[in-house]
Amino acid sequence: MRFADIAGYDALKKALVGMADSGRVAHAMLLYENDGCGALALSLAYAQYLACEHPHDGDSCGHCPACNRMAKLIHPDLHFVFPTNTGSKSGKTKAENITSDLYMADFRTLALENPWFLEPQLMEAIGLEGKSWDVNVAEAKELSRVLALTSIEGGWKFVVFYLPETLRLEAANKLLKLVEEPPEKTLFLFITHQPQKVLQTIFSRCQSLRIPPLSVGEMAAALASRGYAGRPADAWNPTSPEDALRLLPADAAEQARVCGGSLGAALYALRSGDDSRQFEQWFEQLVQALLENRLLDAWAVGEQLAALSSREKQKAFCIFVSDMLRKIFLIQRRMDGLSYATASRGELCRSLAGRLPRNFVPRLQPVLDKTVYYIDRNVNQKVLFTDLINRMSINITRA
Ligand SMILES: [Zn+2]
Repeated sequence: MRFADIAGYDALKKALVGMADSGRVAHAMLLYENDGCGALALSLAYAQYLACEHPHDGDSCGHCPACNRMAKLIHPDLHFVFPTNTGSKSGKTKAENITSDLYMADFRTLALENPWFLEPQLMEAIGLEGKSWDVNVAEAKELSRVLALTSIEGGWKFVVFYLPETLRLEAANKLLKLVEEPPEKTLFLFITHQPQKVLQTIFSRCQSLRIPPLSVGEMAAALASRGYAGRPADAWNPTSPEDALRLLPADAAEQARVCGGSLGAALYALRSGDDSRQFEQWFEQLVQALLENRLLDAWAVGEQLAALSSREKQKAFCIFVSDMLRKIFLIQRRMDGLSYATASRGELCRSLAGRLPRNFVPRLQPVLDKTVYYIDRNVNQKVLFTDLINRMSINITRA
């Protein structure tokens, strides 16, 4: 991956290139971002720049053997660490013996296809949907072993460490020395979405770098270059967010506006657009039925939810409802709840805010949290959704 493949972040790229060119490479960096904002892409481009045999004009050449191997994520001195657990793909291996190696092929496929992937997408790719995950002691031991060896290509050794906030304490203790005094020409690139959860001992040894959200104009350009535009991205140069947005189809323009500057989140929403439209429909049908006291119709929606193909989708529906309720709550209290809503969703929220009782949202939010909790624990889904609907009904009629 070259810097040129990454939309936005001009100042950041310049800073990274400056560090590399001046020979003042920090041996441990902590890149923190909102999920999907590009920390992985930037880490890969930075590593490729350092490994490249003919870097020029502030970027790697993209052609030399090192660039080729980096681009395919098969460079022998490029190591990845990410949290793991036992799951549908781990066979009989015990959790304490699992390292990232076991899932590397799936990780590579995902990262090559889209280095802006979100945490849940990685979980799905490696078969850990709905599970907890962490970086264990076996991983720390393996990393110490690998880094003790000399670099295979004679240059830098890179460790892209995804989600250090999941490091178990024993594993962190094993790693501390490595991070503090890394073997020569070793570069740690930690990528975190929750810097407040990264152990202070690790955090304090890193140079930290915030990867900010993209502006609306940058998002629009990035989406356009991925084929969401009406005409090729290189045929125009978006100077204002409005201009850029006008060139995108309605769906993509809305995502550029509402995804909080995370390209990964926008791409994910666009790909799963059908899901979210379906969720919106179900939510509307459900609440309409309850407001009109048609409990049988509401239960029919519940049946469809229970029959969804995966627990992840059922949870996603609950999270969707939770987000809609939050917007309704804010509108009911005359606070702007719609700055991140699509037009049709905003209209639905406004209309429901006028019809739902004011205490509906505060009463229902804990019920939704519990539903997600029980979906994870494999409780019978029909029972769960019937119960959720009954509680919604009680809270509408009781008020
Ligand atoms: Zn190169």
